Amino acid sequence: MTTFKQLGLSDSVLKVLSELGFEKPTEIQEQAIPHLIKGNNDFIGLAQTGTGKTAAFGLPLLERIDPFNNKTQALVLAPTRELGQQIAEHLDKFSKYLNKVNVLAIYGGAAISNQLRSLQKTQQVIIATPGRLIDLIRRKAILLDQLKFLVLDEADEMLNMGFKEDLDKILSYTPADKMTWLFS
Ligand code: AMP
Repeated sequence: MTTFKQLGLSDSVLKVLSELGFEKPTEIQEQAIPHLIKGNNDFIGLAQTGTGKTAAFGLPLLERIDPFNNKTQALVLAPTRELGQQIAEHLDKFSKYLNKVNVLAIYGGAAISNQLRSLQKTQQVIIATPGRLIDLIRRKAILLDQLKFLVLDEADEMLNMGFKEDLDKILSYTPADKMTWLFS
């Protein structure tokens, strides 16, 4: 049986997983985490919701954030506000012992003023829905020029929902050498 430790996760993350009662990795976690935790390749993961997809990309993503770099290093795009909030909640929990790693969710349908205020502080990981993200980029509240990791969660759903143009626009603000992890 493969353990989370064998997948290469750090003690800070292993501690939180044990607190959360995660005993062993799910299939997608077992397959994705060893690739995502190191290397510079893009990645495509196919997994249903409820199979532990969020931890499959979230755990390696958090491990790879440089806590001493205040720039936005990772962006997770999700098709809906609900999914975005859910991802942020998970990442918040997973980062409990990763001091100095900040996670912020931004999405439409909520006051932009609060989001603008939160963005004045370091936010190394941003979870966003496409429309609101573009709005905040245009207001210069978010800068993606130092982005290292782009995660597209439910990428097929985002395309079905007509976000293709928004996604292209967002990609145009990101560096060419970032890693893209696509989950569908
Ligand atoms: P997700 O597919 O990411 O939405 O995860 C579905 C649910 O499974 C969430 O409530 C997770 O907290 C939980 N979960 C994810 N990975 C594990 C694991 N390895 N062991 C136990 N529960 C897990």
